[in-house]
Amino acid sequence: MNTFSEKNKERIRLLACETRSKHHAMDWGVSLEELIRLEGFSCDECDLGEKNTIEKITRSSERIFKKVKAALITDEKKVLIDTALFSTQKIFAQAHELGHHVIPEHREVFYLCSETDLNPITRMKAEFEANIFAEETLLPTPLMKIIYDTYPLSMETILLLAELSDVPILRVAVRYVESSDKQCAILILSIDIDGDGNPGLRLKGQAWSASWEERYKKELIADFQFFPPNHNLSRVVTCEDVGAVFRDTIRLEEVDRIFQAHTVFNGYNVFALLF
Ligand SMILES: [Zn+2]
Repeated sequence: MNTFSEKNKERIRLLACETRSKHHAMDWGVSLEELIRLEGFSCDECDLGEKNTIEKITRSSERIFKKVKAALITDEKKVLIDTALFSTQKIFAQAHELGHHVIPEHREVFYLCSETDLNPITRMKAEFEANIFAEETLLPTPLMKIIYDTYPLSMETILLLAELSDVPILRVAVRYVESSDKQCAILILSIDIDGDGNPGLRLKGQAWSASWEERYKKELIADFQFFPPNHNLSRVVTCEDVGAVFRDTIRLEEVDRIFQAHTVFNGYNVFALLF
């Protein structure tokens, strides 16, 4: 089966949901560490940049040419996470290692995974599959469905989902729009300055739902576009209140349409939900 096909991705997602279900853990209340323990593994943090640690795992003094950030040691039933990994990446790395344990054809003595392996854009087959598994384990489709059925399309729902799942808002927001059956998109922006030194917003990335793509066919907003300080989206920048949601409208010239825009600043990025 083609690794990147929808059929294979669906197979991996099913494995992730089955793992939660068999432990009666299809519930936001069960943490990922608990789930790993239920699978008979323990979670530890250690310095994976340390040569001795890697030599102990691989039982070899051969050099490993990648910066290891997470590891699965099957025979010792351990998930190891590098102490230097950002706290926002840790939960994803743990879920990724759980994937190497659960996916049948991944069975090996150990896995050493780098930051590139843990990036959703990787095209390394086993790493790509472990990332699909991680995403589904952290934000499982059955629980997402309850969210869509219960709460309105809004930034508040994305923030609630981030709180319930303990997953960083960036991953939650992308998953939320990509799995939504409504026309919506998320913009990921960073604070930047204009020629006079005034703060505006720079577009860093975007994701959208299938129905948004069907309607608009392409990205409506060019990547790296700058929204000047007086733009509706940029109002959130001057707000001291991190986590507060702003509701406004923006006009996108390309389609001559006004969109609802919910924006929030989480201290690092600004997220704008458009619909
Ligand atoms: Zn991996």
